[in-house]
Amino acid sequence: MSILSMTKTLVKSILHGPYTVQYPIKHKEKFERTRGKIEITIEDCIYCSMCQRRCPTGAIKVDKANASWSIERLQCIQCSYCTEVCPKKCLRMDHQYTEPSFGKVKDEYSNARVSDHPENH
Ligand code: SF4
Ligand code: SF4
Repeated sequence: MSILSMTKTLVKSILHGPYTVQYPIKHKEKFERTRGKIEITIEDCIYCSMCQRRCPTGAIKVDKANASWSIERLQCIQCSYCTEVCPKKCLRMDHQYTEPSFGKVKDEYSNARVSDHPENH
């Protein structure tokens, strides 16, 4: 790279400013296919545990007896595999990120009515 070309690149970078943003104070634009976080339509879940078994990081826990489904947000690597294996297609990738945290971020969903259904006994 010549001195002239290097100087041009340097000046361009200085004038442009940083390409990154001060997350979480500022947020970058989200796109339709941004991998943010997994969401569930709990009413459609049959607690088959397929997502729990296939999740490579063990982020998902399914409790059929109590009709509950939970996810440890910061353990999830957004691979989206759970959305592919769910037979009811009740998992989806949302484009909103989980807020940063020093501790665990566990979201739990339950649908107690399902445990009363005869097919679940
Ligand atoms: S996106 Fe991947 S890591 Fe996250 S819960 Fe689903 S399978 Fe697990
Ligand atoms: S794979 Fe789908 S239906 Fe089965 S427990 Fe997970 S979210 Fe529920």
